[in-house]
Amino acid sequence: HLATSWQGKQNIKVIEVPKPTITEDEDVILKVTSTAICGSDLHLYLNFMPGMKAGDILGHEFMGVVEEVGPKVKGLKRGDRVVSSFEMGCGRCFYCNHQLYSGCAGTNPSEMQASLYGQQTAGFHGYSHLTGGYPGGQAQYARVPYADLNCLKVPEGMPDRKVVLLSDILPTAWHATELGGVSKGDRVAIWGAGPVGTLAAHCALFKGAARVVLIDNQADRLQFAKDRMPKLETINFSSQKVPDALKEMLGPDAPDVCIEAVGFHYMNSWLHKVENALLLETDTSEILNELIYCCRKGGRIGVVGVYSGFCNHYNIGAFMEKGLTMAAGQTPVQKYWHDLLKHVKDGSLTPDMVITHEMPLTKAAEGYKMFNDKVDGCMKVVLKPWD
Ligand code: NAD
Ligand code: ZN
Repeated sequence: HLATSWQGKQNIKVIEVPKPTITEDEDVILKVTSTAICGSDLHLYLNFMPGMKAGDILGHEFMGVVEEVGPKVKGLKRGDRVVSSFEMGCGRCFYCNHQLYSGCAGTNPSEMQASLYGQQTAGFHGYSHLTGGYPGGQAQYARVPYADLNCLKVPEGMPDRKVVLLSDILPTAWHATELGGVSKGDRVAIWGAGPVGTLAAHCALFKGAARVVLIDNQADRLQFAKDRMPKLETINFSSQKVPDALKEMLGPDAPDVCIEAVGFHYMNSWLHKVENALLLETDTSEILNELIYCCRKGGRIGVVGVYSGFCNHYNIGAFMEKGLTMAAGQTPVQKYWHDLLKHVKDGSLTPDMVITHEMPLTKAAEGYKMFNDKVDGCMKVVLKPWD
């Protein structure tokens, strides 16, 4: 079967690999029908993420039809249409019992992870040997462990593009608003107008935020979001100074909530400094400091942008004096996806608004390049393995 493989920096190849098989009793094998490229995949594409090996199969946002079922899977049968979660829980460890599925201790800890994070993180599909080295789902077939927990059945009649983003970025956008505690009447500022930031704006408006300001330097992306959410306000940081613009728009005692949906693309840490020094346009810690600087006293910061390793020059002084709360994390998808599916079904959430390109899996390299280069109005690419 065909799968998208990582061959090194900015080198993606679709290759023939052996079809996955059931290896554990609670596995299913999915025939993948739709699989998206995520901003997190760009960290791999740009070789910012340690722990990749040439030939690794990419992809953590996917859905499909159940083709084979392990003997201990209870709730799924051949032919069911399901979405797979990007992170995998085992459903029985301390973390899963507390709905902290993205911190699952049972899926695949590794020594390398422990050395970086001080503690093991969960298993992710297609996301480096730091997170278990599981083959990903940008492929014709994929294996999903602990399938009862890690697959969500979708009702017939809902097209793939409506539900595929329940695998990651709709729950992640929601998680951002939960981490930031967005509630009715809040004034919310969001850094990053990629698919995650744009859907975070969508979720904040859904929750009744009074004002939502989206920040980026990509004029096309800001306009794209505004076209879909007329209530949205935007700041282009290539021509506006973010803290001044926010104060001018929202007044002195705002924003109540700041959301970070950018991640370590521009991170200036010990991990990336040497190899990627020439790529760095901004020190990511400067973005975090910008959130700390902009947030009102007693305000809340939610970080879903992905980081790895250490980040220095972090303004703990201002953070403490202003009495801020900051929360971060990989999304516990399974905690949210049942409720989110209902909102998608009744039309009050429309995550497919960010999908701009659908193309055959065989064009994966083109999809990655287009998404990374932010050309052709590209926001979210969905690959079709059987086209
Ligand atoms: P993306 O790369 O398409 O979007 C990031 C956007 O941030 C880009 O439009 C970029 O121009 C903008 N940006 C860069 N520097 C900025 C700055 N200083 N201020 C404001 N904006 C800036 O990626 P995406 O798919 O939208 O994902 C966003 C982040 O969310 C990534 O780091 C991704 O890894 C992360 N993510 C996290 C989770 C999770 O579980 N926490 C899940 C999915 C994605
Ligand atoms: Zn993702």
